[in-house]
Amino acid sequence: MAEFAVRPRWVDWHCHLDLFPDHQALIVECDRSATATLAITTTPIAFERNVELAAGSSHVRVALGLHPQLVSSRAKEIALFERLLSRTRFVGEVGLDASSRHYSSFHSQLAIFERVLRACDEQGGKVLSIHSVRSVSKVLANLESNLRVGGCVPVLHWFAGSRSEARRAADMGCYFSVNSEMIRSGRSLPIDRVLTETDGPFVQIDQSPSTPRDVPAVVERLSSLLNLAPNELRSQIVRNLSEAIG
Ligand code: MN
Repeated sequence: MAEFAVRPRWVDWHCHLDLFPDHQALIVECDRSATATLAITTTPIAFERNVELAAGSSHVRVALGLHPQLVSSRAKEIALFERLLSRTRFVGEVGLDASSRHYSSFHSQLAIFERVLRACDEQGGKVLSIHSVRSVSKVLANLESNLRVGGCVPVLHWFAGSRSEARRAADMGCYFSVNSEMIRSGRSLPIDRVLTETDGPFVQIDQSPSTPRDVPAVVERLSSLLNLAPNELRSQIVRNLSEAIG
């Protein structure tokens, strides 16, 4: 896999490393365990510091984000997002959130998401980690109308859509990152598009925030749901990441 000099053994394609007090120690752990980790950010202001901390890392990559739940207060930061975009091929967290708490900013979220997608499409080759709470069909419609097929790779994080929405997403080249809180959705996803994530610290395992070291447990649970040997699923996920990002 060209992106990683040392082939990853595990994949955590959505983790908020910068929301943990031991951010730097987690990066060291990801490198030691060869866990390909996408360090998600929620605001473009956080990007530089994340890049600094991950500069020497073999397995951590930093994504540039503007979280839909923060659009109500931080929409103006889209200008900074656009300025920083050429510095990375990884984007997230971006997307839409139509849950009742965030619905008041939904119009603004749509405008921001469209700008994000257009900028990504223009530069091409971006890998996006996308939030789609209560808005799967809107997210898919936006991907269809703003991204050229084959240009960028959308990864739907914590996907909660139907089987037919999963098919529609897969047909347009999407991948899906699965965490321990939504293992069962793994049943409706094409196995060659599945990645793992922890979404720490928002997802908890045994009452403590999930970190990249919980990926083997996610693989274990998903493999028993799918009736696969854990190691077989682990290699499939690494292959999927390789297909997705090269
Ligand atoms: Mn997240």
